[in-house]
Amino acid sequence: MTMAMNSPGKDVAPDATITWISGPVLRARTLKGFRINEAVLVGTHRLLGEVIRIDSNNAVIQVYEDTTGLRPGDPLTGTGSPLSVRLGPGLLGNIYDGLLRPLAVQGDWVKPGVDQVRLEQRFLFTPLVKVGDRLAAGSAIGAVSRKDARPQHCLLPPGYQGDVISIAEAGTYTDHETVCVLSDATGNIHDIAMSHRWPVRTPRPVAKRIPVEGPLFTGQRILDSVFPLACGGRAAMPGGFGTGKTVLQETLAKWCDADIIIYVGCGERGNEMAGVLHEFPGLEDPRTGRPLMERTVIIANTSNMPVSAREASIYTAVTVGEYFRDQGLRVALMADSTSRWAEALREVSGRLGELPGEAGYPAYLSSRQADFYERAGHVRTLSGPVGSLSIIGAVSPPSADFSEPVTTHTKRYVRCFWALDVSRAQARFYPAVHPLHSYSEDTEVLGQFWEQHGNPQWPKQRRRFLNLLEEQARLERMARIVGKDALPPRQQHVLLCAELINEAFLRQSAFSKIDRYCSAERQIAMMKLITYFIDQSKKAVAAGVRVEDIAVLPVMRRLRRMGEEIGEDKLDKFDELRQTLDNECSQLSRGVVHDAG
Ligand code: ADP
Ligand code: MG
Repeated sequence: MTMAMNSPGKDVAPDATITWISGPVLRARTLKGFRINEAVLVGTHRLLGEVIRIDSNNAVIQVYEDTTGLRPGDPLTGTGSPLSVRLGPGLLGNIYDGLLRPLAVQGDWVKPGVDQVRLEQRFLFTPLVKVGDRLAAGSAIGAVSRKDARPQHCLLPPGYQGDVISIAEAGTYTDHETVCVLSDATGNIHDIAMSHRWPVRTPRPVAKRIPVEGPLFTGQRILDSVFPLACGGRAAMPGGFGTGKTVLQETLAKWCDADIIIYVGCGERGNEMAGVLHEFPGLEDPRTGRPLMERTVIIANTSNMPVSAREASIYTAVTVGEYFRDQGLRVALMADSTSRWAEALREVSGRLGELPGEAGYPAYLSSRQADFYERAGHVRTLSGPVGSLSIIGAVSPPSADFSEPVTTHTKRYVRCFWALDVSRAQARFYPAVHPLHSYSEDTEVLGQFWEQHGNPQWPKQRRRFLNLLEEQARLERMARIVGKDALPPRQQHVLLCAELINEAFLRQSAFSKIDRYCSAERQIAMMKLITYFIDQSKKAVAAGVRVEDIAVLPVMRRLRRMGEEIGEDKLDKFDELRQTLDNECSQLSRGVVHDAG
């Protein structure tokens, strides 16, 4: 699973020599023509680099490994192929560096240089095709089963199609061995193994993109019920330091209903990644009870690693995501944090003396971000099945300023914007997604999902919740001037309802055993009960009941805490709570009638 190249022997003359070096970038005088994006091996350790610019016989190279010790005059060799990774059945369940080299969890990073002994991994292969079958590109040729990973298929790589002239019988093989021989339309013969290489900057082709239909369900109420993400969609999660980006990304990785999780820790501090690196291998998949790692690939690239490796980790991750999508699976990719990648682009650009754009970022920042997010999608794969890749990128704007370039550009390419708010986080209100600064452009399509789950009223209820929250913000500004008691009853009622929506519905602790996951059925029950409260209390207020009397009803405390108190196995308790609400409200109203009488 390494990025190993077919590297020439040591006595072969180098293709270039280093003339200048600055951190992760260097210039070299080339003796042979390199191609743009060609992978190169740098120095005697043969560090992996990539040609990022060429003018006449000078090349600019970005090196993905620590360049300490490299000097002008050191040799450089081209590989003849673009920066690529090997995709195969060994990926699941492992932790890799940005170049897709297995990373020992004990904290020992792989040695520099790509020339590593390949792990000899063997997999149980069961053929899915027979001699004489005519196969389209991307077809599954066999199934792979591993004790420690979910079932997978191995695919004909894009670009290969034809008639099967031999196929391995069921048995164990290494992922490099030929398991299928194919004859194409021109009679050329191709040996196909369980794994194949793919250039990371090239999106893997699909038959076509198809419109999104359902959500990537996350079990987080403020996302699913308020700002839902379509399966195959793109979301960003901007937030200042400590607003809960990492916790939310990890929560999504654990609970979202994807078949495969690709988690990229990009340039965050090592201790931030520790949760993922050490916690994940021990976690259970809440749905299957199997280890979560069986369907997970982690790509870890911490702040102590060369900055340019962040770029590699982003492209590597999205390529791995597409590979599983092509097997007809639902893939979710979380990247924490895309800002560290942008900072790496800025650093490399600065060292090259490029003309800086906004906040020092290079002018191509925006198009790089677009390239990344555009690889998300809900697609028909080359061989027919439907697969999806959803991308969720964390953004860490300095000083939580959302007008900075990384956040503003990201906004152009995502359809869901989950704005994490510093003051909500400071009040320990989690998830700190701000209901008025966030949005989802997928809500119209996703109404269907809620309808199928028995809540055709969802769009109306959602709108109503948001309206109340907007009005709350306006009234609170006013109340700061005139005092809350000066507000008329109808407005005090709005504040009471908005407070209930926040406390009972939007707040959801990732660390609560009962509430960390909320099924669609439970979200609906809660949404309906809160809507019912709004209606009933509104009537009561209209009939003269005082808002402060409603606020102190015993049922209010239970409503606020219903997420914590009513678990997935006790949904009927919501009906009981509604009954209690009815009783207490009617007592209040009777009191009013009585007083008036
Ligand atoms: P960031 O990655 O944005 O810097 P973190 O994800 O590390 O922030 O969150 C900081 C702290 O906030 C966490 O250690 C945790 O205590 C708290 N926190 C964040 N999100 C949640 C959540 N959803 N539920 C409960 N606590 C949370
Ligand atoms: Mg973090």
